[in-house]
Amino acid sequence: MRPVRTRFAPSPTGFIHVGNIRTALFAWLLARKNDGQFILRIEDTDQNRQVDGSIEHIIKCLKALGLNYNAGPDQPGPDGPYRQSERLELYRSYADQLVAKGRAYADPYSKAELDEFRKAAASNHQPFLFRNHRPANPPVWEYGVTPLRFKSEPKAYHWQDQVMGQLSAGEEAVDDFILIKSDGYPTYNFAHIIDDFEMKISHIIRGQEFIASTPNYLNLYEALAIEPPLIATPPPVLGASGNKKLSKRDGAKDVLSYIEEGYLEPALINFIASLGWNDGTTQELYSVDQLIKAFSLERILKSGARFDERRLLWMNGTYIRNLNLEELTKRAEPFWPEEAGAYEPDYRRRVLVLVQERLKYFAELGELSRFFFVDLPLDPNLIANNAKLAALGSAMHKQLLTQTYTELSKSDFSVDDLTRRLNALLESSGQPAGILFSLIRIASTQAPASPPLAESLEVIGKERSLARLKQQIDAL
Ligand code: GLU
Repeated sequence: MRPVRTRFAPSPTGFIHVGNIRTALFAWLLARKNDGQFILRIEDTDQNRQVDGSIEHIIKCLKALGLNYNAGPDQPGPDGPYRQSERLELYRSYADQLVAKGRAYADPYSKAELDEFRKAAASNHQPFLFRNHRPANPPVWEYGVTPLRFKSEPKAYHWQDQVMGQLSAGEEAVDDFILIKSDGYPTYNFAHIIDDFEMKISHIIRGQEFIASTPNYLNLYEALAIEPPLIATPPPVLGASGNKKLSKRDGAKDVLSYIEEGYLEPALINFIASLGWNDGTTQELYSVDQLIKAFSLERILKSGARFDERRLLWMNGTYIRNLNLEELTKRAEPFWPEEAGAYEPDYRRRVLVLVQERLKYFAELGELSRFFFVDLPLDPNLIANNAKLAALGSAMHKQLLTQTYTELSKSDFSVDDLTRRLNALLESSGQPAGILFSLIRIASTQAPASPPLAESLEVIGKERSLARLKQQIDAL
């Protein structure tokens, strides 16, 4: 067994969403599990598709999740540099070797000539294969002027994919592909093979769009007498509908946006890892260390994983509920509504403990807690939106709230006493809790949802709670 060395090899072509990061996470987990190395390599050989700032963005996303790499563009290592655009000499030397061995040749055709070949193949209902048009006497290859093509040796292949199992393709899948483009840059097809070899990569983990070209790669490995790494191609992450690949248009955000909204890193890692992977048990929640132990390529599912943001919310909420008070306080700090600034830390802490149960991500803190800090304006929709409550009519609302006011005026506003009096009110009014408590909740918060009623009233305090009840009564 060779030492485990994996890599994440993104092209800096723009936005990288949470589904794309899964590839990095799987590669990172495999390396960590085997005390191996994880490398970040930037595949920037397509100069036209580059987007400024992408590399920085990729690095930030990885760092935000703690997916540290042993070597990368900003972290020197023995087999760097880690940007393909800085390795052109290396690809050229391999290309020269292939030319010398008679396994590469200059492509003499113009784009128009190639289009003609393609058209002719299509009208004969034949697949277009470049190798059917190999020039008898190719010109001498001029680096940076003419493209260089691989001279393939077509044959059928069977190979083992670590996720998909046994795969195969006939010799028509092998063709003469471009190694070096006319601009002197290598293609992905060439560069990744050289780099994975030079960087001693043991496992390639990448998307299934590369399966169709794998016979070409296997052919090139043979020409170079290189033993291929193990290859694992997880199925794509699908959008919520489950019928197409997740994209930015489905609302897929990048990792940084989730972190800005107050999602917790271990929850994000847990969620992303669970997109198409499980350990064969029903366990859903894993700490990062547990994931490292449990992860294996063999347990990646063969069918696409659906990106269900509700599951992420559930998971993140669970992680938030498990935070201790100190972590909770620290995490919440950037998300308090402005008005909270005027209150003592102890008051904010009491609010936080109450809303912890309901928080699914920290950016909700403002909405869930504002009424603890400010008197929100009366919102008639809150009653109107509750059909059963609205059906009672405002005279009845007024009567119930007046009764409540009288009863709660006698309370010391401890949770125990409030609970006792609220229950007494249920009995004396004959209303179900779903009606009466909703009404009291609305009157005392003017918010669509709140933590348990007695606990909320205790924190809001006697004076303020009664004033709010009074205001609602007067408005009815
Ligand atoms: N640069 C390729 C991409 O971004 C990476 C494929 C690979 O991991 O080999 O899709």
